[in-house]
Amino acid sequence: MSAQARRYGSQFVKGRIDTIDGDFGRFHARGDGIALEASTIIIATGTVNRRPDVDPATHRSALDYGRLRYCPVCDGFEATDQTIGVIGGDARGVAEALFLRTYSNDVTLLAVDSMDVSAGDRLMLEHSGIRIEERPLARLVFTEDHVSALLKEGGECRFDTVYPALGSDSNDGLAHALGLDMADGCCIAVDRKQRTSREGIYAAGDIVYALDQISVAMGHAAIAATTLHNDLRAREGRKHGRRNLSRG
Ligand SMILES: Cc1cc2nc3c(=O)[nH]c(=O)nc-3n(C[C@H](O)[C@H](O)[C@H](O)COP(=O)(O)OP(=O)(O)OC[C@H]3O[C@@H](n4cnc5c(N)ncnc54)[C@H](O)[C@@H]3O)c2cc1C
Repeated sequence: MSAQARRYGSQFVKGRIDTIDGDFGRFHARGDGIALEASTIIIATGTVNRRPDVDPATHRSALDYGRLRYCPVCDGFEATDQTIGVIGGDARGVAEALFLRTYSNDVTLLAVDSMDVSAGDRLMLEHSGIRIEERPLARLVFTEDHVSALLKEGGECRFDTVYPALGSDSNDGLAHALGLDMADGCCIAVDRKQRTSREGIYAAGDIVYALDQISVAMGHAAIAATTLHNDLRAREGRKHGRRNLSRG
């Protein structure tokens, strides 16, 4: 995709943007050693999943072997009939465990510190045949073919794969600095055309409140790019054709 974008004249600048100022038609984006000017901006800064306490090299190889997974919507099917541990002793963990129960009848919910699950949720887990491990997790040990969850009070649970359900943090610093309207405190609010609350600034991907999937991010980007193009044309008063295009 990078090669294709370069072929059509895109430039790639590697680095972090810390500030954006200016207005529609002339924005300035700056970071360490970076100063860019742009008529419009698409923010696609994404989110970061909260990780269990595992060193980066082990984390990488656990992902590669499918022992550690973050996205049941993406790869729950690959865990079909596996022994699954869901890490997160709260409503988020409950939702993820119930989702994964449709792929496996061997699902266990584990907590990092303590189990904070309502009586109603407990009942739902029990009815679904999902085990609740009350002893908090001490450490995860990954091998090529299994995961050991070592428990603080001693003992161990073995799984084929584990899903941390610890939430995620949006990379929303720029959005807040720009004063953009947010959807639920951490995601950028957009209209149906991916426009943010500031003219000339659009948003796409996980930073927008939607389903965190590559296909969704690419769909957002296609809409944002088309809207941006049309907004620029409207602004410049150069109307080609009857109306702005909205169909591919
Ligand atoms: C382990 C894992 C597996 C997944 N598997 C799948 C899958 O199988 N299928 C699927 O559809 N989805 C999957 N997803 C979800 C998918 O990765 C995301 O939905 C997708 O990457 C979102 O794209 P994005 O461009 O919005 O954000 P990202 O891909 O997160 O990209 C955002 C980029 O912006 C950068 N950035 C942040 N702040 C700044 C700044 N201030 N200046 C400059 N750069 C900045 C970040 O460093 C990052 O490189 C998976 C996610 C994870 C974590």
